[in-house]
Amino acid sequence: MTSDGSRTPVLTLLTPGQTIGVLGGGQLGRMLAMAAARLGLRVHVYDPDPRCPAADVAAELTQAPFEDGAAMARFAASVNAITFEWESVPTAALSALHAAPPIRPPVHAVNVLQDRLAEKRFLTELGLRTAPFEAVDSPEQLAPALARIGYPAILKTRRFGYDGRGQVRLDGPHRIDSAVALVATQPCVLEGFVAFEREVSVVAARCVRGNRACYEPGESAHEDGILRTTRVPAQLGDEQARAARRAAELVLDALDYVGVLGVEFFVTEGGLLVNEVAPRVHNSGHWTEAACHVDQFEQHIRAVAGWPLGDPRRHSDVTMRNLIGDDVHGWPAYLSSPHAALHVYGKRDVRPGRKMGHVNFIGERSTASPRPES
Ligand code: AMP
Repeated sequence: MTSDGSRTPVLTLLTPGQTIGVLGGGQLGRMLAMAAARLGLRVHVYDPDPRCPAADVAAELTQAPFEDGAAMARFAASVNAITFEWESVPTAALSALHAAPPIRPPVHAVNVLQDRLAEKRFLTELGLRTAPFEAVDSPEQLAPALARIGYPAILKTRRFGYDGRGQVRLDGPHRIDSAVALVATQPCVLEGFVAFEREVSVVAARCVRGNRACYEPGESAHEDGILRTTRVPAQLGDEQARAARRAAELVLDALDYVGVLGVEFFVTEGGLLVNEVAPRVHNSGHWTEAACHVDQFEQHIRAVAGWPLGDPRRHSDVTMRNLIGDDVHGWPAYLSSPHAALHVYGKRDVRPGRKMGHVNFIGERSTASPRPES
């Protein structure tokens, strides 16, 4: 640590046989552990649930609540680098660690991106466009914010929202009660509803030396706020595809980021608006597993290990479909399809709305994507 308490920049390089600590043992942690193992790196997962999906494939597991400072300190002391699989990671607990190994992505980046309001202000300052937004910290602030934003609008919690949870859509005054109830529980942000043509996202990585690798934009379709499919190539003009990549690169550099992040965009008549940035591997990047030389999980592990990034080029057309809830029971059918690559997360309980796996459908026609710019 420096005398002012900030962490000294480090270029720690891991070697095969060393261990990456992953906070969170869901499907993303599981896929990170599998990618790490392929590169000879061990993964130590920290999760409150001993039966979490990553437990089946990780070398070690700490089963403890994230608020358990002593367990967190023991975990940090036993690994050579720390990363995480979700954005609501307890950054205060991480910052409080003494003698912690490098934390990648950096805590300051996560602090910005885990708060929808801080994130939108950051993006706007970078010159990127977002949906119109207003802070709503208390029920009293809702009406004045609605007067400025207008209907339709969406009220979202500033933190801890995912897959459409923690959101109330307001098409008119009739759902005001639900919105008031939401903001009574925690601070929110009100967003104008964007009449988008489509949604695209870019998954991109930056290594400790500042080099970047961007995957091609994927086109995503959501149902009930949950990602259903991502297809690549997206229906996007060259100029818009370049703009999406540039936006991701701008965010990576501005945050001095190390690791993979996902940037979601609304495509509108007037151009691209950033919906949100997730400081982690991203569901809309699962297509890279079957259609790229180096997928997003290996890319993230490389960055966390301090290694050079891999080639993000795509070698095939692809559509990724999430298996949600009961969809997973259809797994046998995918085994007999020559174009389907099945991935099941090993979750014990099937519940409606729960992501249970995904399938990548590889297009018969292969097209090489252009070389990334950076
Ligand atoms: P989020 O959790 O913010 O990524 O929202 C999940 C999904 O809800 C998005 O991918 C969109 O399909 C939809 N959505 C969220 N915010 C907006 C918005 N301001 N305007 C239109 N659709 C939105």
